[in-house]
Amino acid sequence: MPDQATRRGLLIVLSSPSGAGKTTISRKLMEADPTITMSVSATTRPPRPNETDDVDYHFVSDDEFEKLVEDGELAEWAYVFDHRYGSPKEPIKTALKAGRDILFDIDWQGTQQLETAFGNDLVSIFILPPSMAELERRLRSRATDSEEVIQGRMRRATGEIVHWNEYDYVLVNDDVETCLAEVEAIIVAERLRKHRRPYVADLARKLVERPND
Ligand code: 5GP
Repeated sequence: MPDQATRRGLLIVLSSPSGAGKTTISRKLMEADPTITMSVSATTRPPRPNETDDVDYHFVSDDEFEKLVEDGELAEWAYVFDHRYGSPKEPIKTALKAGRDILFDIDWQGTQQLETAFGNDLVSIFILPPSMAELERRLRSRATDSEEVIQGRMRRATGEIVHWNEYDYVLVNDDVETCLAEVEAIIVAERLRKHRRPYVADLARKLVERPND
């Protein structure tokens, strides 16, 4: 019989327009709960100065990305801002089998594909900025992107936000600590859902069938 702690792993997707705070929230979430694994995506985008290969992304060439697609190594992939991004399949399988949760920072296109592939094992969370003015302010305060990139991201933000209703949960990142606490609450509740906990089904059956044990 499975013990209390045994459960299926969870695929947690965090999506938001760039600048709504999901990277900060992902980082804080992993610090608070080291049992969560972050999915490291492959991308054809060049690294930013503060990014490390195989930590922030697997930075690959167009040909390398094409090979990953052809070999069926990606669970999902999409074009975002003119570059290709995709989630490697193998770490997902390993985490799920080990009952570990895996966190994805991916866009709505990837979320739809993971939903189709993993259905019940997926929990999707969309993070909204409190306003477009605040989103722009946050994008500017990062100071890593050019004016052209910032304007491009603002245009893309609307295209991302229109997909809010495809997600299981929609949060507003007005205050990062509050939003983080909400994400943590969702994860606690989702981990307790009965289909992820073979232990409770076995226990309930035993309590009914063999009440004197
Ligand atoms: P950035 O270039 O700012 O790191 O990421 C740009 C966008 O690509 C973000 O909205 C991020 O969520 C999305 N993204 C990152 N990795 C993946 C991935 O593996 N698949 C998909 N579909 N989107 C991704």
